[in-house]
Amino acid sequence: MNLDSSRGSQTTSRVGVAVFKGTGSRLESLSADEIIHWTLDTFPIGKIAVLSAFQKAGCVLCHSIARLGLQSRVDVLFVDTGVNFPETIETVDRYRTEYGLNVIALHPERTMARQTAEEGVLYLSKEGQERCCELRKKDPLKQIRGRYEALLSSLHRSDGGRRAKTPVLAPDIELNLVRIHPLISITEEEIEAYIRQHGVIVNPLHDQGYPTVSCARCTTPVLPGEDERAGRWRHLEHASQYCNINPPDRARGGDNSDFVELSYETAQKIENYEI
Ligand code: SF4
Repeated sequence: MNLDSSRGSQTTSRVGVAVFKGTGSRLESLSADEIIHWTLDTFPIGKIAVLSAFQKAGCVLCHSIARLGLQSRVDVLFVDTGVNFPETIETVDRYRTEYGLNVIALHPERTMARQTAEEGVLYLSKEGQERCCELRKKDPLKQIRGRYEALLSSLHRSDGGRRAKTPVLAPDIELNLVRIHPLISITEEEIEAYIRQHGVIVNPLHDQGYPTVSCARCTTPVLPGEDERAGRWRHLEHASQYCNINPPDRARGGDNSDFVELSYETAQKIENYEI
């Protein structure tokens, strides 16, 4: 059976990898703002969200949503693991109050204290870290399954590693929605330039030696000359690089059998998009 945009029922349609690749290639030439507008034109109101950890690129994306006046049309999702730095939480609050974004915090089922009491200090081993990130990052995000059809994020190819091949559009089969990456072509220099030009609110930890910021338990500053991600899971001697909340970061990439089930109208708009 051809899963690419085959009619799944009267109201929904399965959209497969080939369709996303085709439309994604046509979106490659668009600017970040144009990809955001395409998203607004393609998906129903109330079905679009941004996923952000409020690092620099995420702040650029969230600021763009506010600059384009889309605060009432796009939710912003923040996975609050319960062990974030206070500076991160303050940054999130500023996006609510100063940019008017509807930031929705997603929480793990258990507090870190209860998790530790029941399972031990997980993040001190590679296997434990994977479970901890699953429990405190991936599982909270699964709460949104069925709620949205489009999830924008700030992944960009210049981040390197597995992200160097991130597509503009990709199915997220776990969440049954479309991952969209408007900043796909942005460089680190362009991120810095955008932040300077617009005076974007960023996590104050970036000025204290933290190029990237995750949970306080697993993030340290980096020394001059170290890789930007050297401060992540330093205690594991970098056996881990990603929390795997983003599909392109996972060892298993998407394959041609992946598909998501969308409303028929949305599926048609994606498949039939022409520049
Ligand atoms: S980054 Fe560390 S503390 Fe945070 S969820 Fe992952 S393992 Fe747990």
